[in-house]
Amino acid sequence: MVNSADLELVCHICNGPIKLETDLATDESGQSLHGRCYTKQIEAEAAEHPSSTKAAD
Ligand SMILES: [Zn+2]
Repeated sequence: MVNSADLELVCHICNGPIKLETDLATDESGQSLHGRCYTKQIEAEAAEHPSSTKAAD
């Protein structure tokens, strides 16, 4: 008997379950997370290092 919980990936950002078909993303460290959480993480990192992503005006 297969325990489906063993097959479920958990987002390391929000600790929510990841649907493989729709949500799965992998960050630079190879950790599984939601695509939307990955976006939020990137934005948060950009906020910490504004010079690296600052748009030329
Ligand atoms: Zn998430």
